[in-house]
Amino acid sequence: MEFIKWSNPNAEYYSRVYDILKSNLNSVNSMGVDYLREQMSFKDKNDFRIETVLSMLDRYGVIEGSIENKDLILVDELPDELQDDARLKEKLLNDNKKLLAVVNYFKSTTCRRIYISDYFGFPGEKPCGNCDVCCQYIIT
Ligand SMILES: [Zn+2]
Repeated sequence: MEFIKWSNPNAEYYSRVYDILKSNLNSVNSMGVDYLREQMSFKDKNDFRIETVLSMLDRYGVIEGSIENKDLILVDELPDELQDDARLKEKLLNDNKKLLAVVNYFKSTTCRRIYISDYFGFPGEKPCGNCDVCCQYIIT
């Protein structure tokens, strides 16, 4: 499940991207995301950690503008939340749990409504009689 890992860069990765933006912002703006990708020296084209980091930096108000428009600027320091490996690992763990819940949902032979109600902490739901699981047992 590489995509979960790439959605959750560690603190060192955030720090390295931030440092490149800080020291080579002109190169990043003129050569684009590929320049940033090369500086981070990873080979897998599907690895989208750079995009994740840029998105998070934008969400935390650290950057403004965009590389696509060649007007990316740093407006703030790297926030503590993105330098806290314990916190980032916890998010990775939670994302893995959510993924597992989705996988289990598809594998489940329990009524979909019951599964979802249980997942969100509302037990005691009765079979809906309309979902694929309920209908599977009615038809046969
Ligand atoms: Zn059902």
